[in-house]
Amino acid sequence: MAIEAEDGRVLVVQLGMTGSMSIDQGRAPSGMQARHRHVLWALEASSPPCDAPPSAAPRPIEGPWTLAFRDPRRFGGLTPYATLHDLRTAWSQLGPDALGIRSRALAANLLRTGRPIKAALLDQSVIAGVGNIYADEALFKSRINPLRPANRLQATEVTRLAGALRTILSKAAAAGGSTLQDYFDALGNPGSAVQLHAVYGRAGQPCVACGLPLSSCLVTARTTTFCAHCQDLST
Ligand SMILES: [Zn+2]
Repeated sequence: MAIEAEDGRVLVVQLGMTGSMSIDQGRAPSGMQARHRHVLWALEASSPPCDAPPSAAPRPIEGPWTLAFRDPRRFGGLTPYATLHDLRTAWSQLGPDALGIRSRALAANLLRTGRPIKAALLDQSVIAGVGNIYADEALFKSRINPLRPANRLQATEVTRLAGALRTILSKAAAAGGSTLQDYFDALGNPGSAVQLHAVYGRAGQPCVACGLPLSSCLVTARTTTFCAHCQDLST
C-alpha cells in the first residue's frame, strides 16, 4: 500500500504478516491496538478548497484522530520514496497483480522456474500479492499439488490456478481478510475470511472434497497444507 503526500513524496506501507494501520479518534488506543505501535501520526483536516479565503488554515479534525502503524512480528516496514516515479521504478520489479492475474501472464512467469509451484507463487517477482494462506487455498481449489515443478504445469492447470487466485483473493478481500490472531482493519474490525479456508490451518482434518485427512509439509520453510488425494503429485 502506498500513501501519496501532497508534496509528491510517497510512503510505502508493507504490512508483512501481522502489520496493520489503524485509525483512532478521540481516545488513546488500548489493549491490542495500543501494543506494538511503531509509528503514530496526528491527523488534521485536509487543506481548504482553492476558492477558500487565504486565511483559512487547515483545521484539526474533532478528535484527536491518530493513524498508527502496528507490526507485532516485525515482518512489515515503512519505505519512503521521493517521488511517485521512484515508487513505480521499485514496483516494476514485482510480477503481475494476483487480483487480476490472467493465465497467459502467469504461464509465462511460471515457465521461468522449475521450483515447486508453491514456492513460485510466494515469489513476488513471479506474481505479486500471494502469501502463504492464499497460495495453499488456490492450489487446493485448482487441484494442483504444491510440490509440482512450476514449469511443468499443463496449460489447463495454469488457467484453473489463475482463476482460483482471482476468485479466492476477491472473496477474502470482500470478507475483510483472514484474522488468525491479531489482524484488524483500519477501524479495528477483524476479517472473516478464515471461515472460507478449505486447507490452511486444517492439517489432519478431513478434506472438504474427499474426506481424507489433509497433509502438511514445509516448502521454502513455509507450512504447506494440501490434500494428497485431490492434489495428486503424479498428475
Ligand atoms: Zn481431498
